[in-house]
Amino acid sequence: MTYFQIKKHIKEALLPVCGEYASYEAEKIVCHIFGLDKRTLTLISHEEAPDKTEETENTVARRKNGEPLAYILGNTDFFSLNFLVSPACLTPRADTEVIVERALEFLGEKRANVLDICTGSGCIALAIAANSHAKVRALDISEEALDIAKKNAVRLSLSDKVTLEYCDALSEDFAKECEKYDLIVSNPPYIPTKDIAALSEEVRREPFGALDGGEDGLVFYKRFIEVLPAKLNTDGIIIFEIGYDQEEAIRALCENAGLYCEIFRDYGGNVRGALIKIDQNEYK
Ligand code: GLN
Repeated sequence: MTYFQIKKHIKEALLPVCGEYASYEAEKIVCHIFGLDKRTLTLISHEEAPDKTEETENTVARRKNGEPLAYILGNTDFFSLNFLVSPACLTPRADTEVIVERALEFLGEKRANVLDICTGSGCIALAIAANSHAKVRALDISEEALDIAKKNAVRLSLSDKVTLEYCDALSEDFAKECEKYDLIVSNPPYIPTKDIAALSEEVRREPFGALDGGEDGLVFYKRFIEVLPAKLNTDGIIIFEIGYDQEEAIRALCENAGLYCEIFRDYGGNVRGALIKIDQNEYK
């Protein structure tokens, strides 16, 4: 079969699970199996491909079974950078890019000190470091996720700008740290425990610990809103990714703590982030 025919075969097999993304995913899978980049695949698409039927069928079966494409490929793109991913960390989502955009807008040319909590694959921390003059300290409670994040830092040549450390951000030890930051960013687990079972097969393949935000989904925000303001430099800000239905809850938490909060949406039009400040001044 030619590469073109193989791609078409995969696309047809994936249509029921991937819908409008079937063609995009089929192309990614062909490139992965045959070790080609997209451009080369286009150039040789009508040539006869070596026989990799078994690998192709296995891959299609895994994807049809609900395994996320990023886990099958072992990597995914986020903010125009390529990240290694594994079932130890949440797959970087396009929806999260708006968090990085807000962070970069705030940072501008500043040589800022940034903290990223619950870094997972490191996608937010590394995308910020790659596009600013900031130094970023990134934390996670999962050693396995930190391993992936460290590999990503090396692959992206960002190890000198980003430090990756084990830390339980809900602990007293973290609360007691005195270091201060200009920007604190986090995409913590925020799905209420009881809702996780109802998520798609694909999302349920991701680590429970990266999704589970406790009974009300707000465990991390409640603690962070208590602990983080003391870690901000003057004019510093906090940016959280939040769930589409958490606007009211986050506003209430900020109001009770006397913090100013702006909610913003992603490009799909869904509520996606909260920008939190101690007072309402514009960035300086
Ligand atoms: N946005 C993720 C989802 O769609 C959840 C991410 C998180 O809990 N931080 O499931």
